Amino acid sequence: KNPSKLIVILTIITYSISMPCTTNAISINCLPPSDIQLRLRSDSDAIAAASNDFGNLVQQTPSAVLYPSSVDDVVQLIKLSNDCPTPFTIAARGRGHSVRGQAAAHGGVVVEMSSLRRNGSAGIRVSWEASLGYYADVGAEQLWIDVLRAGLEHGLAPVSWTDYLYLSVGGTLSNGGISGQSSLHGPQISNVLELDVITGKGDLLTCSKEMNSELFFAVLGGLGQFGIITRARIVLYEAPTRAKWVRLIYNDFSKLTRDQEHLISLGDMNGPNYVEGSIITDKSPPNNWRSNSFYTASHQAKIHSFLKTNGGLLYSLELVKYYSFPDDDDTIDQEVELMVKDLSFIPGLVFKKDVAHVDFLNRVGSMEKQHMNWDNAHPWLNLFLPKSRIMDFNDGVFVNIIRRHNRTSGPILFYPLLKQKWDERMSAVVPEDEDIFYTLGLLHSTKRSESHVFDDLNNEILEFCSKNGIKIKQYLPFYESKEDWMEHYGSKWSTFQERKAKFDPRMILSPGQRIFTSVL
Ligand code: FAD
Repeated sequence: KNPSKLIVILTIITYSISMPCTTNAISINCLPPSDIQLRLRSDSDAIAAASNDFGNLVQQTPSAVLYPSSVDDVVQLIKLSNDCPTPFTIAARGRGHSVRGQAAAHGGVVVEMSSLRRNGSAGIRVSWEASLGYYADVGAEQLWIDVLRAGLEHGLAPVSWTDYLYLSVGGTLSNGGISGQSSLHGPQISNVLELDVITGKGDLLTCSKEMNSELFFAVLGGLGQFGIITRARIVLYEAPTRAKWVRLIYNDFSKLTRDQEHLISLGDMNGPNYVEGSIITDKSPPNNWRSNSFYTASHQAKIHSFLKTNGGLLYSLELVKYYSFPDDDDTIDQEVELMVKDLSFIPGLVFKKDVAHVDFLNRVGSMEKQHMNWDNAHPWLNLFLPKSRIMDFNDGVFVNIIRRHNRTSGPILFYPLLKQKWDERMSAVVPEDEDIFYTLGLLHSTKRSESHVFDDLNNEILEFCSKNGIKIKQYLPFYESKEDWMEHYGSKWSTFQERKAKFDPRMILSPGQRIFTSVL
């Protein structure tokens, strides 16, 4: 009846027949007539879009892309794969903002989660319960910017964020979701009350700390290995209206970290709501796509002149205190003054802004369209570093490797996080035996033809850590061998493996992470 749908089915069938008989090729026998076929596409546009990601570094071609119109479509697809003698792999794709193919399914099926947003989404519903307080039930395909907007309609907002809000809820919950609020509230995965998850066996389950708790903790930071999240219940609180936003420039690394750690120890009442930091060099200047909205031209000139007299390396501490206008208007300046007054930044190098709370949270989104080159390659490296070794890391990496590097890179983020805010039972890994660890984000952006220069830089840093016994953990990890994954998970590896055997025994989900490449 509908010729275009017929063409799609025929295309898939033709494509499947013409595929070499690899383990991941979708066998035609595995696609019995069903509604789901109408939502599978294998035309070149669909395949091309699902083969690449924000990194622009790897191409991994799926056999087909599912544009689900309901959660049930995803259930059907996973069950279909399980019914095959040789199952095909399946990857949920949130926004494809991974950098090395983590949301890809080479030869398998990519599930374009944004399609649920248009069709069968759980949407965003704000509620309140005496035992839970305010929360939002959110479709996992939703973007954090939309969660923010929906919350603000009720004067509410999530407590924990990423710097950039055009990321999917399911994507960040599969990694961690960190920003300057994480030292106070924990990462986004610590602020989830409940999830709906379709396991690798095709079971749709609701889970929380109390119900199906093993699945709940497995999925949080679980790199998509155990199930596809379809709904998350996210903690909300009363949103402030404004933010005092301060950046302080340092030339002494030990003073920077001492002040960062002091600030995150102050807590909610007396301390900032947000603490980050960054490294400034000629090649990673203060004005970049993450912060162009902050410094005026004269601020930048001032920082650059200090950069020259400080050996080409400075550090920045960024803090924010939220407030509500007009209620806190009389006291907020004094509060911020108290926080800053005893800190050891370079005298005079303090820069302040007063912005709407929503503009602060969406600071990167409002800049990226103008300043980020989406066609560039993004060979990012994100690490968690043990606090006990950050002085060695500074000497070896910031003072030496980074300062010597002669190509323009991108922002370099560096700020502390508290281990106690990360529940040990979650799949996410952080450095062992340290109460405080630092996150480093090398957010390189370069011409595709030059990405190898930054790969070399990243490798030099990783080798430096390995040679000097600095036990780092990668955040948004990328490893090529099973041994590396085992080392990454450390004492959590056996649990991670057991959970995989329990929830996705046929190794169907998230093959782009390259953790389980054969059946256990
Ligand atoms: P995708 O890249 O699509 O997916 C990531 C992984 O999660 C894949 O394995 C995928 O299969 C899986 N997945 C996706 N959806 C689901 C689901 N519903 N259920 C189960 N598994 C799923 N991270 C931070 O923590 N803090 C930041 O401040 C931050 N800023 C960023 C800024 C930019 C410009 C970019 C590009 C990335 C940033 N990130 C940040 C990284 C970001 O958290 C990751 O890219 C993350 O993967 C989210 O992106 P996504 O929604 O596109 O997920």
